[in-house]
Amino acid sequence: MRPQVIIIGRPNVGKSTLFNRLVGKKLALVDDQPGVTRDRRFGDATLLGLDFTIVDTAGWEDLDPDTLPGRMRQQTEASLVGADVALFVIDARAGVTPLDEEIARYLRQSRVPIVLMANKAEGRQGDPGIYDAFALGFGEPVAFSAEHGQGLADLFEALRPHL
Ligand code: GDP
Ligand code: MG
Repeated sequence: MRPQVIIIGRPNVGKSTLFNRLVGKKLALVDDQPGVTRDRRFGDATLLGLDFTIVDTAGWEDLDPDTLPGRMRQQTEASLVGADVALFVIDARAGVTPLDEEIARYLRQSRVPIVLMANKAEGRQGDPGIYDAFALGFGEPVAFSAEHGQGLADLFEALRPHL
């Protein structure tokens, strides 16, 4: 069976763009509005010779602040079942947000290895976010640009030990 790699992160960080980049086809819906991906999507990904199943998740949309922690835990638990690695994506341009920190708290409790990705890191606008991301406690973030296809070799190096 192909190993399974799941993409997790708050809305609008570029999860679906990353999915499309790794699958090489437009299977996931990308939109400027947060919350476009409603369901989990599965695709066959290839990254420099690594083959795996990639899963695009709905993120943390439509969350009622009162039920936020519970909903996030549910979503995280559900999506991590069967995953060999989780790609935790943040937006390097936006920096680390409170929601990123919430997600990080749940991911830290998971047994699934986490690869932290600082997306939208093309150019220099993402630099402060990349440094911020270290503080999340998942080691060195992979500086990435899903839109421009930058950081693929670093992602390969980060994923390879887990697949
Ligand atoms: P999702 O909600 O996490 O699935 O995010 P999407 O993949 O739908 O992307 C949200 C927005 O971020 C879209 O406008 C994308 O074009 C944009 N985006 C995604 N990746 C990048 C990137 O590497 N750089 C920049 N500048 N924008 C990106
Ligand atoms: Mg999406």
